[in-house]
Formats: sequence, C-alpha cells, structure tokens
Amino acid sequence: MVKVSSLGYPRLGENREWKKLIESYWSQKINKEELLEGAKALRLEFLKKQLNAGLDLIPVGDFSLYDHILDLSVQFNIIPKRFAKEKDINLDLYFAIARGSKENVASSMKKWFNTNYHYIVPEWSKQRPKLNNSRLLDLYLEAREVVGDKAKPVITGPITYVALSSGVEDFTAAVKSLLPLYKQVFTELVEAGAVYIQIDEPIFVTDEGADYLEAAKAVYGYFAKEVPQAKFIFQTYFEALIDAESLSQLPVAAFGLDFVHGLEENLVALKTGLFKDKEVFVGIVDGRNVWSSDFVKTQDLLQQISEKTAELTLQPSCSLLHVPVTTKHETTLDSILLNGLAFADEKLQEIKLLAEKLDGQERPAYREHISHFEALQAADFRNVELENLEDVTTERSSSFEKRRQLQQEKLHLPLLPTTTIGSFPQSQEIRRTRLAWKRGKISDEDYQAFINAEIERWIRIQEDLDLDVLVHGEFERVDMVEFFGQQLAGFATTKLGWVQSYGSRAVKPPIIYGDVQHIKPLTVRETVYAQSLTDRPVKGMLTGPITITNWSFERTDIPRRQLFDQIGLAIKDEIKLLEDAGIAIIQVDEAALREGLPLRKAKQKAYLDDAVRAFHIATSSVKDETQIHTHMCYSKFDEIIDSIRALDADVISIETSRSHGDIIKSFETATYPLGIGLGVYDIHSPRVPSKEEVIANIERPLHQLSPKQFWVNPDCGLKTRQEAETLAALKVLVAATKEVRHKLGN
Ligand code: GLN
Ligand code: ZN
Repeated sequence: MVKVSSLGYPRLGENREWKKLIESYWSQKINKEELLEGAKALRLEFLKKQLNAGLDLIPVGDFSLYDHILDLSVQFNIIPKRFAKEKDINLDLYFAIARGSKENVASSMKKWFNTNYHYIVPEWSKQRPKLNNSRLLDLYLEAREVVGDKAKPVITGPITYVALSSGVEDFTAAVKSLLPLYKQVFTELVEAGAVYIQIDEPIFVTDEGADYLEAAKAVYGYFAKEVPQAKFIFQTYFEALIDAESLSQLPVAAFGLDFVHGLEENLVALKTGLFKDKEVFVGIVDGRNVWSSDFVKTQDLLQQISEKTAELTLQPSCSLLHVPVTTKHETTLDSILLNGLAFADEKLQEIKLLAEKLDGQERPAYREHISHFEALQAADFRNVELENLEDVTTERSSSFEKRRQLQQEKLHLPLLPTTTIGSFPQSQEIRRTRLAWKRGKISDEDYQAFINAEIERWIRIQEDLDLDVLVHGEFERVDMVEFFGQQLAGFATTKLGWVQSYGSRAVKPPIIYGDVQHIKPLTVRETVYAQSLTDRPVKGMLTGPITITNWSFERTDIPRRQLFDQIGLAIKDEIKLLEDAGIAIIQVDEAALREGLPLRKAKQKAYLDDAVRAFHIATSSVKDETQIHTHMCYSKFDEIIDSIRALDADVISIETSRSHGDIIKSFETATYPLGIGLGVYDIHSPRVPSKEEVIANIERPLHQLSPKQFWVNPDCGLKTRQEAETLAALKVLVAATKEVRHKLGN
C-alpha cells in the first residue's frame, strides 16, 4: 500500500480565523487563555481535516502563533540579547521578538528560501542553548488524541536552523550545542509513541548546502546513534538535493524529496539507485502553486519512481503553508478555471487519488480530475493568438548618450533632479472611499471625481515643494500588482485565496490563468489628468512584467519566459498609450526582480536574461526622447548588477538607506553609466531626516557618480506614511538638493 503524507498545513484558516485571533490578542480584545484556546481549536480542526482527507501521516508542530523558526529559537533559548533581561520566557516575549516592543527593536525577518514567506532570523550572541519548553511533545500529545498513530512530528533541522541564523561565530560549535536539545526532544517524542519524525533541512538544496555535508554526517550519525528507535525523514524542498551522492548515505530511514521543483536531478539520483535501501517520501504535487496536477504525467513519473524504491509515500512538494486553504468558496470564478485549481485541501485529495491509482484502484473522481485538467488546457483563454514577438523591438533605437541629450532638450531638468517613487500617503478617507466604490455604494463618476481631487491636491503640493518630476500619487491602487491583475486579461482575483507572508500578514496574489493581454487602458486616465494640471513633467507609473509574475500565482503550463514576454507585451501597449497621450517620463517598477532569483547559481543567469528581455519588450519601443525609469527596493545588488545595467533604463531609483551603504558600493565600483537615484532617506520609518543627513547621502555617492547622472528621491513609495511626515521629509529633500546644487555652482 502506498502511503500518503503531508509536510505542513496552512495556518491562516479558511476565513483567516488565525489572523483575526492573533490580532485580537495583540489589540487586547482577548486574553492569553482565549488566544491559546482559539489556537488549539484551529489546530484540532486542521488535524481533523487532514485525517478526513485520508492521510496516513499528519504533520504536527507545523502550526505556529507567528513563525516556526521563532518557535525553535524560543524553545532553544536563542533569545536576542536585548530581550534576555526579560525574566519570563512567555508569549509576550515571543511576540516582542517578532514585532518589537517599546524598549526593543524586533529581530529582522528574511524570506524563507525563494518563497514569499518570511521567518524571524535567530540571533546568536553566546547564549547558552537550553530547552525552555516542551512545545513539540505537547503538540504531539494533543494531536494523538485526535489522529492517534498518524501524528508525525515536524521540526526544522539543526543545520538549516543555524545556517539561517545571524551572529553565529563558529558554525560547528553552534550546531553541536543544539544536538543534546534535539536529542531530548526526539527521545521524549519516541517515548510518547512517535515513529516517523520529519526533520526539515532545506538548506541542502541550496549552493550553500555543499559546505555542510560533513556537518550532516556528524549530526545525523549522532541522531541515529542516540535515538535509534525513531524513523527520521530527512526532508528537503524547493529544489533537488545539492549532493545526493553524499547525502543519501546519511543514516536516516527516509528521504523527503521534491519531485516538482527538483525533478530532474532528484530523478537522476533515484534512478542511479542511491535511495534503493531507503524509504522515499515523494513530493509529487506542487505545494507552492494553485494548479491541479497533470495526473497523466504524474502517474507516469510515479511508475518510474516506484520501480526504484522499496517503499514510497506520496506528499506535496513542500508545506502547504504557501497556498490558500480551499477553492470551495471561490464560487464566482469561471467554472473551467475553478475546476482546474487546487489549494491545500484539494491538493491532499489529489495525493490520495494518485496513491490509490498507484495501488491499482481508480475512483471516478480520478477520471473526472483528468477531464477537468484537460478542459483547462484546452480553454480559449489559454490559446489566444498574441502579437508576434518577432515584430517587437527589444532594443532602444539610440544609445543612452543620444537619448539623454534629446530627453534633456525636451525636459529641461536641473542638475540633480528631484522626484518621488510613485505613491503618496493613502489616508483613511481614501481607503474608505475606494471600498465604498468597490461595494457599489459610490458611482464611478463620484469615485473618479474624488480621485481627481486628491491628484490635484498632490500636484499642487508637489509644485509647492518645488519637486522637478511629479507623480499622480497612485491613489486608485491598493496594491501595485493587484491593480494591474484586475485589468489585464488572463488574471483572476480570488475571494479568499490568502497566504501567510509574515506574522499575521497575509497576501492574496492574483492568479495568472490564461494568456495575458492588454484589453483597456490601465493608468492613462489618472496620469493624463495629473499632467493636465501642471507644466512640470508627470511620470507615468507601471509595474513591470517580472514583479507582476513573481507576486502572482503563475501559470505553469507554459515556460516562464513566455509568461514574462506576454506581460511585457501588455505593458508595452500601456506605455504606448501613455506616450501617445503626451507623457514624457514612464517608470516601470521591478520591485521583485531580485527576489525571484532561483536558489541555484546555475539557474540564475537564464532567469536574469529572461527578465531583462521582458523589460526590453515592455520599454524599448518608445521614442528616444521618452525617458524610461525603473525602481527597485532590495538590499543586495552585487550578483545582479550586470543585469540591472542591461535593462538600459534611462534612470533607475533604488532603496539605499536600510542596506548600510552596501548597494552604493556595488554601483560606485561598477561605474554605472546611466541615470541613477539612490534613495536619500528611509521611508520605512516615520522619522523626518535632517538636512545634513540628506546632504551627506547626496554627496557621498557623488565621489563616484557624476552629478549629471544623479537623481534625488526617497527610498521607495510613500503610501504607508502619514501626510505630515511626508511633507516634512520632502521639504528637507528639496532644500538639501538645492544646497548641493549651489555648492556645485548651480
Ligand atoms: N511605485 C510604487 C510605489 O511608489 C513602488 C512600490 C515598491 O517599490 N514596492 O508605491
Ligand atoms: Zn520600492
């Protein structure tokens, strides 16, 4: 019998009950007991759902009140030094580390591998690791009451945990100091009846994992010796094992491998017989995307896999944390699309159907699934005839030098032009009015008049501030990706398709389900209205193809590159409309270009090439005198600087303040020739910078960069700031710029 398992279940709940629960505690609407009761009820509900789905092994310990890595840090006493004074290790300390308190800043968070989930970075500072609680045992005992022997404890392994930490001086010593704690946790679990224990070690799919092969031998040798009764599953996901030859020798009972995202390499390793004496937990259903599986292809793959292993268990490719809970509330979606979607609950059903089929038993639902899948592939919206890419320019017609001259003749900008990144503060009133309009309580005309009034107010503000390049303010947008998703063909928005991003924050990515097409103007009305109010140039504001893709659930039935290209074409059409309407500067934001970078170095170049190409498709058809801007907000540029250069954007604006000068270094040393604005103040804090500070931030890069190419702007959009602090900060920005211009003899 083929078994079925899972690696983790979404925490949010079908209606984001989890989020509401935790936020009620934070705002003191419920007390600690109520929070813990509520959390327990959710856990039991999730367990029962998974039991009913027919799983043989059900994850326990994947649930968290904030983040599973933070859970481990608190359990192991890796508490940041500044919090160590607090005498009680309790829930409030836990949340304080995650969110900050009056006295102390929060720990930083980082993206969990290449997902959009963020974990709380453990901070090592010579603490003495010890067990502060028996969290996993408690959860295991609780789960046993509901699902009995099917409960499978899940924990992040010591090597991944330390590798993701900050402040580690001696890697080996840090790992070693945790081993007795892991041993105790495992021993208690085994004594309570646990057999399988899933140890997540995703670091072993990254290039960095190659440095830890020796450590893995030592650690897993120790676990095998100290807790011989346990059946350990060495679990990886998001890519193939970095060195299957070596890792397959580890003395564990089972390997959990991703046969979706790491298919090719993992399959080769399996076929060479590396896992012939091991149990294999086969990640066969994509745990990171929303599409139902291709059963025909999958069944063929499973046949190949089953020939090479003695015992196999089917499961999703990774924790289902990264997908929404269920499609059953998405009743407004087109039925062909809806039937082709699979969120967490539907993925578990798929795995069960696949396992039964492998055992020679085919339920009617299996056939039905295949016909739904086929209907989706055959749907009109996936087979649109699009503009021929051969006919599209992917290179600006003139060199940057020539363009710069023509643009300057047209725009007459002063030295060190000042601008902002696009959005201005969205007041309560704006949010309320937009919501009322969406609910049909305000007519389109009234809503547009309201937006116009806000645009006009901010055009005057920008003129009064004496900024050089203005923006309309993005008041009509909730989110820079959703806004485009709602208006391009090929995108759908769900009702409850939420996934956890960090802590209680959830996002609802649009689903790209069909061929993407520009079918109506997206931004023309607001931009042109703003431009009609002023003689200064107003910058058009678009989101780029890579960012739109990375922040959506994307199609997987066509190559990614093709999807980038399609969105690039759609943005090109919008740029043309703006240009024809007299807009001389157009910004194409690529805020998420870097975060889409593949985990493995070997795959990064192809991604970056595709990204650059899509940007070119979008932006190259404009006239020489139209100035293309782009904006990015990340902290590490070294590895992608060549691609940034290759975008050939006339001006790039970049977040700088939070990266402590790192970014400046990569741009200073690489002799960047195009226009560039390095954010001169941090917009993530309400603090208003001093003039001296801003002057220093303008002058420092001018040691390497020419004043002729330098722009002055904040770090990022100002949407989340208050109006008063925004005005104060921009006033300082303009004053500082004028002072530097003056010093330069202007
Ligand atoms: N134009 C967007 C804004 O200003 C850019 C946001 C971003 O970079 N994340 O809001
Ligand atoms: Zn930004």
